[in-house]
Amino acid sequence: MPKRKFAVIGHPIGHTMSPFIHKRLFELAKEDGEYIKADISPDELKLRISELNELSGYNITIPHKQAIIPFLDKLDKKAELYGSVNTVRNGSVREGFTTDPDGFLKALETSGIPFSGDIVIIGCGGAARTFVYEAALAKCNITIAARSRDKADILADEVSLKVPDTRIKSCLISELDGDFDLLVNATPVGMYPNKDSMPVSEKALSRCKNVFDAIYNPLETVLIQKAKANGSKAVGGMSMLVWQAVVAHQIWDGSQYSIGDIDQLIWDSAVEMRRKF
Ligand code: NAP
Repeated sequence: MPKRKFAVIGHPIGHTMSPFIHKRLFELAKEDGEYIKADISPDELKLRISELNELSGYNITIPHKQAIIPFLDKLDKKAELYGSVNTVRNGSVREGFTTDPDGFLKALETSGIPFSGDIVIIGCGGAARTFVYEAALAKCNITIAARSRDKADILADEVSLKVPDTRIKSCLISELDGDFDLLVNATPVGMYPNKDSMPVSEKALSRCKNVFDAIYNPLETVLIQKAKANGSKAVGGMSMLVWQAVVAHQIWDGSQYSIGDIDQLIWDSAVEMRRKF
């Protein structure tokens, strides 16, 4: 039987960790599967859709997460809510999923970080959107802290409209004040090569019980290091990146993995990233 084929599509796609992570997940699950990356520009997407339909499944990254939707037969519930797809399963129907939300929730769960109470999300871009929706679905009290109050309010209004009874407010990062059960960094502040910066002041950080930083390069940002030094539980974005890929394999094959194997893969992915970039 020929090997099943999978891919990640995006533009540009040069720096993706997906082939490394997904190849390991196929090996761990003892599933056959060839996994490649395909650079597809926005102009090419329509022309290359028949090629994508030949695959058993694929992942989608920027800029195609919304543009792929008209080419699919069906969206699962979360992809429908988010209006965004990062995983497609091809079969009798072509179904789109978004695995980032479950990747985020698994990263918190496996680190023993509760997702409840007062949550502050720093930033209001693509990743923040995922975290704010999930916090609203989990009935948290949400604060969006951003450098633009207008953009934060647009996100807060969108989520309030779609998720009934959302408790949400916004502020400027510079005005952040209060005690929080969880701080989520959804900005690139602290990312390689600007590794010494933090998105919030040390004083604001000291008032947060737990921390999640979406950044996955470096494995431990200064924010994570300082949170741990304060005695907080803290986890970085590599855990989410790997777990959202695990969820894709559960969708494609129903594969199950041990926490130990995934922890090892998170570590190996960080080593691979340091080697590559
Ligand atoms: P994005 O859509 O560009 O949003 C970035 C957000 O950060 C925007 O709200 C932006 O504010 C804000 N920001 C940028 N520079 C800032 C600064 N110096 N001070 C304060 N705010 C600043 O990016 P994204 O896709 O959400 O990604 C954000 C981070 O999450 C990146 O580090 C990315 O690698 C990471 N990420 C991780 C995963 C994972 O699986 N771990 C998944 C997705 C993203 P403005 O809107 O005002 O510009």
